[in-house]
Amino acid sequence: MKPAAFAYHRAHDVADAVGLLSDLAARGREPKAIAGGQSLMPMMSFRLARPSDLVDLGRLRDQPGMTEIAHTGSTLRLGAMTTHRQVELARLGPDFAVLAEAMRYVGHLPIRSRGTVGGSLVHGDATAEWCMLALLLDAVIVAEGPNGRREIPAGEMFYGFYATAVEADEVVTEVRFTRAAPKAALTEFSRRAGDFATVAAAVTLEPRADGSLEGGRVVLGGVAPAPLRVPEAEAVLAGGAPGPELFAACGRAAAEAIDPRGDAQGSADYRRALTRTLVARSLGQAWERGDR
Ligand code: FAD
Repeated sequence: MKPAAFAYHRAHDVADAVGLLSDLAARGREPKAIAGGQSLMPMMSFRLARPSDLVDLGRLRDQPGMTEIAHTGSTLRLGAMTTHRQVELARLGPDFAVLAEAMRYVGHLPIRSRGTVGGSLVHGDATAEWCMLALLLDAVIVAEGPNGRREIPAGEMFYGFYATAVEADEVVTEVRFTRAAPKAALTEFSRRAGDFATVAAAVTLEPRADGSLEGGRVVLGGVAPAPLRVPEAEAVLAGGAPGPELFAACGRAAAEAIDPRGDAQGSADYRRALTRTLVARSLGQAWERGDR
């Protein structure tokens, strides 16, 4: 399978990329940025995407901050061109260790070595680990466009099937994770190692000094057109006593709250059953690993 014909442009820096994307769009073309190419190229090969022009962001890797991982205070900043593999190998410290741990689930090593954080967030797959982690840890996605720079909170980023708030003439330059979470975990099920998850569950827990829970966060992938935060499940955690019973109850609440669609990967009931199990499993891991 081969992509439809397209014109190729190499951007020198962020301003050049934005200029190319907006000029081409103004001329009635349908350009797309390309970073790691690990989602866009397969989509083009299957003719699910047919951009008229590709604007290659590869050279942006050399720009300051674009592949940087910086931890300051309670915020972790990643340049948009940072690869999954860079994060997997980084020593992020306990507050953001879940980011590095989750990377082992992203495709295979060659995909992780080329695919980027920014590309994954803009692509917006409902089971993508980065999209779930963005909701889990209150990420802010920074995009540069013809009208300047804007910041998109993760809660406003993903709104449908591969639909994100980033405009076609914008370039994502960085993502900031603003919520430190030492007690956090992501688990998932996929039929083969390296495949996208059938269902994935990412959670955080916030313990109180008296041993009970202040609350927690539950984010699911693979059960809706976009990654999904589940307040019904989070409500079960608030004020509860951490342990297997509470975590199982939270898993049941999550499974009841969702309305997944069945497909070749699994029926709706199967996805509900996976949700029940994975939420409880993630909560157990988050509780155990929190003292890293
Ligand atoms: P690209 O493919 O280059 O682009 C993707 C989209 O983002 C395009 O629309 C492009 O225009 C846009 N874009 C890219 N960068 C920017 C930017 N800086 N600003 C604005 N727009 C931008 N992903 C997972 O999360 N989990 C998995 O388990 C997983 N498994 C995979 C298995 C296989 C076999 C393959 C081929 C891919 C898999 N992926 C998986 C996808 C992979 O993680 C991609 O790297 C990622 O989704 C996109 O990153 P990229 O840099 O390759 O983006």
